[in-house]
Amino acid sequence: MYKRFITTLLGALIIGTGLTLALMPSSTPAEIAVDDGSGIGGALFDEKSDAWQTIPTYTPVPTLDWAPPPMAIPVSIRPEDHYWLTRPIPSDQVTWPHPYYRYGNTYFGQMRVHSGVDLKAKTGTPVSSAGDGEVVFAGWGLYDEARGKNDPYGLAIAIKHDFGYRGRDVYTVYAHLSESYVEVGDRVSQKELIALSGNTGNSSGPHLHFEVRVGRNDFYSSRNPELWMAPLTGYGSIAGRVIDEQGNYLTDVKFSINSKDRDQDWLMWTYSKNVVNRDNLYQENFILSDLPAGAYEVEVRLRGQTYTADLDVYPGQTTFTIIQQGGPRAVTTAEPRSNNRSVLANN
Ligand SMILES: [Zn+2]
Repeated sequence: MYKRFITTLLGALIIGTGLTLALMPSSTPAEIAVDDGSGIGGALFDEKSDAWQTIPTYTPVPTLDWAPPPMAIPVSIRPEDHYWLTRPIPSDQVTWPHPYYRYGNTYFGQMRVHSGVDLKAKTGTPVSSAGDGEVVFAGWGLYDEARGKNDPYGLAIAIKHDFGYRGRDVYTVYAHLSESYVEVGDRVSQKELIALSGNTGNSSGPHLHFEVRVGRNDFYSSRNPELWMAPLTGYGSIAGRVIDEQGNYLTDVKFSINSKDRDQDWLMWTYSKNVVNRDNLYQENFILSDLPAGAYEVEVRLRGQTYTADLDVYPGQTTFTIIQQGGPRAVTTAEPRSNNRSVLANN
């Protein structure tokens, strides 16, 4: 059963990879063909063609002129992952989060801790449901009904999805809208047009605030959408913890994630204090998605010492790392997987 599930997902991945190759510019994809049996390698066995398929590791960075298609949901190549949602903005628009105000961040200490991600979108951009479900809120006052048109979310929609996670309900929220096309009680399908983006509520410019909630439809039940939105074909994520000697989370730590394959760095901050929740399994305090598969280095400076973690990102998967200050080794790198839960917190 389990094997069959994996095979089905891998089948989808291979189809997706084909799309990438077809769409890719003239650059030659490098290939990784080593498989250590862990299920994390870059080679996939395709039963149809009875052959090992390799995944390209070089994928161009998305721009407004070109981006690979998102993988078909659900993407759960490893059981830890739940990339079950589509992006709520059309693929020819910006579908990646604002890089300086990610989930759990404060935008240089100037904003409240972010409970979702912001997708830059000019007013009037189509907004679609990230999954099948039922509309449970549409209008003004998502955060506080009493505030009405002064609600920080502005005109907003919340959808309760048909699937749950670990026995709990999953919701998505779409905020700062200019127009809503749905009402409470409406059934919506994945990718169905539900609204137009805007700049209503507490918003500093036109964008879509997108939120994932698990358990309850309230502000305090958010999760990082970067662990829920299906990766673009050929792309993966890095999730991790930056902790002190005792294992306490280090908050608001600025660090960088560097590509070894191209001249590109991502500036990151660990989650700030309070409000945001961590993934049940990863118990992370940072996530960076939308990374072309390839080799990366996570570089964190703590109390004057630089810690680095070298890791590989695989298409449709999350690579996990722990960086601990002052440990016996400078860096502990771990990849939680179903048969190795020792590095995962109990929950
Ligand atoms: Zn936001």
